Amino acid sequence: MHELSIAQAIVEVADSEARKVGATRVARVVVDVGGLSGIVADSLEFCFPMACKGTLVEGAELCIEPIEARGWCDTCDQEFAMRDLLDTCSRCGGFANAIRAGQELAVRTIDVE
Ligand SMILES: [Zn+2]
Repeated sequence: MHELSIAQAIVEVADSEARKVGATRVARVVVDVGGLSGIVADSLEFCFPMACKGTLVEGAELCIEPIEARGWCDTCDQEFAMRDLLDTCSRCGGFANAIRAGQELAVRTIDVE
C-alpha cells in the first residue's frame, strides 16, 4: 500500500526530530500534501496510526494541509489552477509548461511534548 509507506516515512521524520529535541511524545504532525502528489488524504489518515505503533508519534494527531496545484503557461505568462496533470491553461487551453505548486509531500510542523 502506497500510503502506508508514506505514513511510515512521515512517522520516521517526526520520531527522529522528537528524539533530537529530547521530547517524550509527538502531539501533532502537520504535513503539506499537494493536489498533484498522488496522495489520497483519507488513506494516509487511515494508515498513519498503524505506522505510529511503537514510536514517539503513537497517538499523535495528523493534520493534512492540502496545497492547491498551480501550473504555469509560457504563452499567456500566467498561473492557473490544476486538479490533475492534464488540466490546461484557463486562457489559451495549452498544457502547463511548468508545475509551480502541487507536488509537495513534506512534514511542515511537528508539535512535541
Ligand atoms: Zn495559456
